[in-house]
Amino acid sequence: MQDLKSYIREVPDFPKPGILFYDISTLLADPLGLRMAVDRFDWLFAGREIDKVIGIESRGFMFAPTVAYTLHAGFVPVRKPGKLPAATVTQEYDLEYGSDKVEMHADAIRPGERVLIVDDLIATGGTAAAAAELVRGVGGELVGFGFIVELTLLAGRDRLGEANVEALIQY
Ligand code: AMP
Repeated sequence: MQDLKSYIREVPDFPKPGILFYDISTLLADPLGLRMAVDRFDWLFAGREIDKVIGIESRGFMFAPTVAYTLHAGFVPVRKPGKLPAATVTQEYDLEYGSDKVEMHADAIRPGERVLIVDDLIATGGTAAAAAELVRGVGGELVGFGFIVELTLLAGRDRLGEANVEALIQY
């Protein structure tokens, strides 16, 4: 059996010069890679009584619904501004230069529901922290975070507080 890391494609200078992009599409395209990744999330979070799994646009969308299905949970998208049709809650977060926003339907999570947030990769942790604020803002109970890839040098998990942070692959 191959190591999960060997399924990740590393693409230099994408989307701009100097960035090394960790591409999960090669992991998802491989039947065993996909199964191993989803099974590990299932193993890590089964029994935690997750009601909703949040996927963050856009690469979180590629596997969060599958993780939700295996955990017998529902799936909730957190999207870039202006994409969701009904009433939303919004959270702004800082980027290296400037800021960005994420949105979620205001009624997607009911007060007290237990929530897992998943995304392809954690770098600085800003995106995941913003999604967590959306969950807290509507009264959800944040159980944890699941990432396929963690860039440990950036210490993003330090921004995520007390919640359980799991990453399948670390660089
Ligand atoms: P951050 O908010 O800094 O933790 O950035 C995480 C978000 O940016 C995730 O949604 C990733 O998809 C994306 N991202 C940041 N750095 C990379 C990278 N080197 N390779 C692939 N995606 C990245």
